[in-house]
Amino acid sequence: MWDEQERVGYGRAGAGQVGWLAAMLSVMAIGVGVAVSGIAQQQGDPALTEVWQPEPRMVDPGSPGAAPSDAVMLFDGSNLDAWRHADGDAAWEVRDGMMTVVAGAGSLYTRQGFGDVQLHVEWRAPDIVEGDGQGRGNSGVFLMNRYEVQVLDSFDNRTYSNGQAASIYKQHIPQVNASRAPGEWQTYDILFEAPRFNAAGVVESPATMTVLHNGVLVQHHVTLRGSTTFIGEPAYEPHSARQPIQLQDHSNPVSFRNIWVRELTPRQAGR
Ligand code: MG
Repeated sequence: MWDEQERVGYGRAGAGQVGWLAAMLSVMAIGVGVAVSGIAQQQGDPALTEVWQPEPRMVDPGSPGAAPSDAVMLFDGSNLDAWRHADGDAAWEVRDGMMTVVAGAGSLYTRQGFGDVQLHVEWRAPDIVEGDGQGRGNSGVFLMNRYEVQVLDSFDNRTYSNGQAASIYKQHIPQVNASRAPGEWQTYDILFEAPRFNAAGVVESPATMTVLHNGVLVQHHVTLRGSTTFIGEPAYEPHSARQPIQLQDHSNPVSFRNIWVRELTPRQAGR
């Protein structure tokens, strides 16, 4: 029988099996040695591996979605003081705690420039669904006036993948489509590392972005190939270390609210 043969087999250890047993015993001995050295480490001074400086400063995080205490508030629902058009004061509509694109008024730019940042933006595509593809709820959040995270109604609205909501426009497809229906508020949380240029204007370290769309990771520390372009390949053009954040006028009445930004120190930005 099968059982009988197995028992017989184990009972008659041949030369090969003895070698195998010896190998197993030596592996076990190594295991014991590792365990002993682990115990020896446990007996050291734990204070030798404690790091006390720098001490992270206190930041009041506020309630979920609210601006942390060290954020620059760019839009709290009351006015457009932090923004301007290329040729004058901001003229988008402000009503009911939100701002809405006025077609033809032009894109908005922050009066203040920013480099490495954590940026929180809430946006809403029109609930009256008009247009298709790139023509439905199109706007954009441009870091440093050049690097666009696409804003688009991508709920049941197919377009090219590297141009849908939460894409880094024409450069990186979002990992998933975390879009909410038109008329519902959506969030972007963006971590942006500005590119660095040398004295000759050559890029030394490219820009990177991480994006959460409605809390879902969609871009994970992706590297940008240059400024956002509609036609052709992106390329870097040297620019100063601080540039405005831009919200795009793409003629669709997209709304925004609760926009805040945290400037990151080199240490916070991982540099
Ligand atoms: Mg756009």
